Amino acid sequence: MKLVSVVVPCYNEQEVLPMFYEEITKVTAGMAKEHPDLEFEYLFINDGSKDRTLEIFRELADKDKRVRYISFSRNFGKESGMYAGLKNAKGDYVVVMDADLQHPPAFLPEMYNYVKDGEFDCATTRRVSRTGESKVRSAFARLFYKIMNKISQTEIVDGAQDFRFMTRQMVDAILEMSEYNRFSKGIFSWVGFKVKYMPYENVERMAGTTSWSFWGLFKYSLEGIMAFSTAPLSLSVFFGIASFLAAVILVFMGLVIALFTDISMGWFFVISAILAVGGIQLGCTGILGMYLAKAYMEVKKRPIYIAGETDEIYRSRKNNGAQAVSLEKNDVSPQQ
Ligand code: UDP
Ligand code: MG
Repeated sequence: MKLVSVVVPCYNEQEVLPMFYEEITKVTAGMAKEHPDLEFEYLFINDGSKDRTLEIFRELADKDKRVRYISFSRNFGKESGMYAGLKNAKGDYVVVMDADLQHPPAFLPEMYNYVKDGEFDCATTRRVSRTGESKVRSAFARLFYKIMNKISQTEIVDGAQDFRFMTRQMVDAILEMSEYNRFSKGIFSWVGFKVKYMPYENVERMAGTTSWSFWGLFKYSLEGIMAFSTAPLSLSVFFGIASFLAAVILVFMGLVIALFTDISMGWFFVISAILAVGGIQLGCTGILGMYLAKAYMEVKKRPIYIAGETDEIYRSRKNNGAQAVSLEKNDVSPQQ
């Protein structure tokens, strides 16, 4: 049997949770029918909700043994919710999805088809439209992806989402990234692996309200830039060099003017000196920044490498395939 864990971070989702539970159980029942070797568990995370979310979890756990939950002592943010879910999921496959049905459970069967044979390690959706979102918000989102992909080594796909169907191997890799300031879009991409992006039209949340304000999203995007790029730290080196070069050019110009005319150039050299000293200071700050950037990356203790496949994984996958085939044969024989 193979276990699929469905991880759902929830913050004040009392309105939508019953709908979500109904949808997800319907879809997973269909999947279990099609693939008799699949089992499911639902791991709900209550991220310090102030409404009846926790009570609903309890009710669901009472009537369905597959429901597990973790309830946080306060609101820690969706990133912490996802981490707790991944850490505690027991599945051979792990799904991460929102509770508001903006990540339609109907995608799961197709996602599973992509990952089940090891062709992909992760299947995820990518928004191709941003309907239902304000123009300003979309423009800022686009700007963010542009800047991010310019200054960071980690590519972040525009429209990529936290709706993911992952193999155990990929989940373990993500858990190896134990950094405190978590920016999942970056982490998912940093660990690599073969990812299938499934384009889809944005859907609006079914009920309840989004907990992301514009300001919240802005802070989150700064978080992303700081977590995956150290470019801002060494920025001042470039200003320093520019300022110093400007000073050199000014001194040269001042000398020429002083030699060939009788304009008094004292003030000009004072400005040049200020620029030169400022440039040296900025440059030195930038150098400090560069060392700090190195230290910053070290402190994160990210894994030095992540293996995508080894002979061991290859063999066990092959064995599993063989087992599945023999299972199917067994299923058929009693009827004959
Ligand atoms: N969420 C959470 N903790 C928070 C904020 C949100 O666990 O502090 C959950 C929320 O319940 C939902 C998912 O994260 O399942 C996405 O949140 P939301 O729908 O508000 O964001 P949006 O879809 O607007 O980006
Ligand atoms: Mg949502």
